[in-house]
Amino acid sequence: MEMVRSNCGELGLADVGRRVRLEGWVDALRDHGDVLFIHLRDRSGIVQVLFGPDMTSRESYALAGSLKAEYCIAVQGEIIARMAGTENPNLETGLIEVAAQELSILSQSETLPFQVSEKAMVAGLTKSAGTVMEDLRLQYRYLDLRRPSMQRNLIKRHKINKCVRDFLDERGFIEVETPILTKSTPEGARDYLVPSRVHPKNFYALPQSPQLFKQLLMVSGLERYFQIARCFRDEDLRPNRQPEFTQLDLEASFIDEEFLYELIEELVVRMFSLGDIDLPRPFPRMTWREAMDTMGSDKPDTRFGLRFVDATDIFRNTTYGIFRQIIDRGGCIKGINIPNQSEKLSKNVLQNEYAKEIVPSFGAKGMTWMRVHGDKLESNIVQFFSTEEQVAIRERFKAGNGDVIIMIADASYEIVTSALGELRLHLARRLDLIPPDCFSPLWVTDFPLFLPTEEGITSNHHPFTAPDRTDFDPFDREELLTLRSRAYDLVMNGEELGGGSIRIHDRELQFKIFRALGLTEQQVQDKFGFFLKALDFGAPPHGGLALGMDRVVSMILGAASIREVIAFPKNRSAHCPLTEAPSEVAEEQLAELSLLNLGSKNNLPGTGKEQDLPDSLSWVSRIALGGEERPVIASALQEAEKMAALVAEKSGDGEPLFSVLPVQNHMRKEALAKTSRLSEAGHMLKNAPSVKGTFFKVASILE
Ligand code: ASP
Repeated sequence: MEMVRSNCGELGLADVGRRVRLEGWVDALRDHGDVLFIHLRDRSGIVQVLFGPDMTSRESYALAGSLKAEYCIAVQGEIIARMAGTENPNLETGLIEVAAQELSILSQSETLPFQVSEKAMVAGLTKSAGTVMEDLRLQYRYLDLRRPSMQRNLIKRHKINKCVRDFLDERGFIEVETPILTKSTPEGARDYLVPSRVHPKNFYALPQSPQLFKQLLMVSGLERYFQIARCFRDEDLRPNRQPEFTQLDLEASFIDEEFLYELIEELVVRMFSLGDIDLPRPFPRMTWREAMDTMGSDKPDTRFGLRFVDATDIFRNTTYGIFRQIIDRGGCIKGINIPNQSEKLSKNVLQNEYAKEIVPSFGAKGMTWMRVHGDKLESNIVQFFSTEEQVAIRERFKAGNGDVIIMIADASYEIVTSALGELRLHLARRLDLIPPDCFSPLWVTDFPLFLPTEEGITSNHHPFTAPDRTDFDPFDREELLTLRSRAYDLVMNGEELGGGSIRIHDRELQFKIFRALGLTEQQVQDKFGFFLKALDFGAPPHGGLALGMDRVVSMILGAASIREVIAFPKNRSAHCPLTEAPSEVAEEQLAELSLLNLGSKNNLPGTGKEQDLPDSLSWVSRIALGGEERPVIASALQEAEKMAALVAEKSGDGEPLFSVLPVQNHMRKEALAKTSRLSEAGHMLKNAPSVKGTFFKVASILE
């Protein structure tokens, strides 16, 4: 009887004496003359297997000599305890090994483009997979994913997804799938478009998020929805972005912000606990205004201090020219106290690195620094400040001996806060101020509803976010920019993990927001008419949120990039080195999608070329034509064209009738089809998906 397969990684001392059958890959080999040792790896782990003339059958022993890394093999043998001193603590199964009796090679492997093995065979040694170019890893992703570390990432991701599903199910949420081929949902990025063949020159958009559908599900009375949803945004790629990514998307009716905070905090705590990370609840909250004022970011890193102190009022009557001018122009002066760092931040570092190079690269014109020595301030410009000003600076920044104060002044509040925000992060990294293994969640709330653009305004989140008040004038830009939204973002360690809002469920208010955004009535109708209509039918109050799962998972696992937790990611230039997507398509394919005749006809690729009939036929039937078949098909098509011309000539000029006779089936008399020599020899239509006698099947597209 066939023995049941055992898992390599689960074997231990308790199994000694058992005979087992194992299947997996050769992770590594070590040849000791008579005895060959291998690490056999399957998804569960690695076990050492040995082949020797005393234990292994003759044929199998001979076969073992041909083994190479990543051969896929089956082994039968007996579990034995390792001799004292030969145990391998690098392996979970390091106390035992398998004495192989039989070996079969299930499939061989080519020489590897890079090493898959991550475990040293010899106790005490560590193995490094070395640095493999990421594009090469992505090109051979199936090998890269064989590595235990990558399998661990995917398995952990599965567990996190399962935790999400179990938890939301417990809380009464229903998982619903929403369309991928859909209409544009504005989340502030460019859409990926998919041309429609059936509706020439019309396009679907891939969803930037399921936003509109989840709101429609609330109108549908579903009350609590979630989905682990793929979203698509054609954005310029930044390091931790992918053109397609996964969100945990959810929405609930008859709820408020507190409901969502409680729900998401509990969920996030559970997810992080799968990475043995303990997050204390409740998560702190901070208004957007405070975040900008004190950390210069709407996703502040709260793992360390270095908060900004406003010093503008100290210099109201200053004689220091630069500050004077900035204050006269309505600007501001803010700074950071960096406690006890004057040794590391020498005069030279502050003046030549920070003031001259680093801070200007953050967009500020310059910076002012002061080191505190005893109860005195030292700097290249301290003499320009009065004694009162110097005392006030020390007090305001709560500065003591050994501290360093850096100030940035500018007429623009945005420049001050954003440059100081970047400086804050730079200093924290350089001075090692970020505690390791620290996770600092934060809710950021009370965002501005709109952000200014050069011509007008744009939504800070998306246009379905509820404003804090509804009595505004949609055409008063100044007033619109004072509105706050009922939105909330979840931030962790300076990264935005997700965000959401309470939505607008009143049709009039939603329309007013679209108008405020500069859409004409017609544009509103064209883009969102279907959605506004839904709000006419008793829409419930609702709200929700989405979490970026790639980021959440990579943070829980401490992965270097989100690509480490995605099975088949694109590279940094949105290209897939494995499949070579995106790729060019056949001209016929473009023609079929009516994409060749868009815009200026003559300039578009391929429009000038003569149509090749056999090619077109081969394309619509989805059957590739071989060289021999082509002339036969071409002449058959010529015949068909002649026939069509004859029919056209005889048909007269009356309106065509749809049906002349009642429709009925006419069966052809039993007759053998006339077959050509080529088809008799099986050379015709050999690429057809399925051939039966003298018939072949065509793709349903021809039905
Ligand atoms: N659809 C939003 C986003 O993708 C999230 C939400 O508002 O629920 O950011």
